Amino acid sequence: MKNYYFSILFLFSCFFTFSQENEKQPVFPVVKTDKEWKEQLNGMEYYVLRRSGTEYAFSSALNNEKRKGIYQCAGCDAPLFRSENKYDSGSGWPSFDQPLTEKAIFYAVDYEIGVARTEERCANCGSHLGHVFEDGPRETTGLRHCINGVALKFVPDEN
Ligand SMILES: [Zn+2]
Repeated sequence: MKNYYFSILFLFSCFFTFSQENEKQPVFPVVKTDKEWKEQLNGMEYYVLRRSGTEYAFSSALNNEKRKGIYQCAGCDAPLFRSENKYDSGSGWPSFDQPLTEKAIFYAVDYEIGVARTEERCANCGSHLGHVFEDGPRETTGLRHCINGVALKFVPDEN
């Protein structure tokens, strides 16, 4: 009987170790080494995308981008957001009420400023994009996807 309990305990600890590791290191379709990312990205892009940094508010030209088009991941070109879902939040970062598809985004929780925030990452390459907050436009989703402009590449629609 004692053995039985031990094996249950053992299975349980395996499961926990497994799920914790899974949470820390999800596997994304695009995998690159740190060296490869450094070669591909400029300093600010690397800091934001690969080190979960934040660009200065109002520093991105994409804040004022009003053209129709698609916003891709600056790390892997995956399509993430559309101009129709962009709005002026006044926060100083490009803001969207929803992503192109929910599958395009990987959500995780971070505690970098001491409180839980929902972090957004590109579901294709795992690069950090920004955070999602619940103070978005009430007439649509109520969500504000607050995205670093440097994490995005804007591709205007062809007319
Ligand atoms: Zn990406």
